[in-house]
Amino acid sequence: MEDIEEILKEANECLNCKNPLCRKGCPISSKIPNFIDAIKKEDFESAYKILQENNIMSDICSNVCPHEEYCMRSLCKRNKRKTGKYF
Ligand code: SF4
Ligand code: SF4
Repeated sequence: MEDIEEILKEANECLNCKNPLCRKGCPISSKIPNFIDAIKKEDFESAYKILQENNIMSDICSNVCPHEEYCMRSLCKRNKRKTGKYF
């Protein structure tokens, strides 16, 4: 598991976009910005519940979902700014 400081650093880079393309890229439209916002507040229980709202298998999904093809590929402004990649 990643170090908690690294997770918080990543979460704090989220711009909380009004038009969250990450969510549009998710096949099940998970509430990614809300999840990240809870992580920012270190409210991990709420973050977990947000993921569970539409996906009771989120624990498994997080390991098997090809996120680089979905949420991470969907022109996330943060990723564009960070990596300069436009996929
Ligand atoms: S990892 Fe998969 S299920 Fe999870 S938010 Fe990204 S696209 Fe959606
Ligand atoms: S697109 Fe990127 S920066 Fe915007 S809300 Fe989603 S994760 Fe955060």
